[in-house]
Amino acid sequence: MALTTCPDCAGQVSDKAIACPACGYPMMQTKGKSAWPGMLGGVAGTYISAQAVVSIVLGSVMMFAFAAIMIAAIVS
Ligand SMILES: [Zn+2]
Repeated sequence: MALTTCPDCAGQVSDKAIACPACGYPMMQTKGKSAWPGMLGGVAGTYISAQAVVSIVLGSVMMFAFAAIMIAAIVS
């Protein structure tokens, strides 16, 4: 078992760990010394998924608000 350095918090993490136990940074994409592509992929993946979640939540809220306004208009 070898230890590697977490690119996010610089803590010592097992090279077999799925994620950094200290900060949760995903470690599976980093293979040996080619840590940069995996690190960039992890950051990009997190950013894109976060944006997608925000879009879905905002979309749902907007749909609900629009429906509520339409129902209120019809009822009144
Ligand atoms: Zn970490």
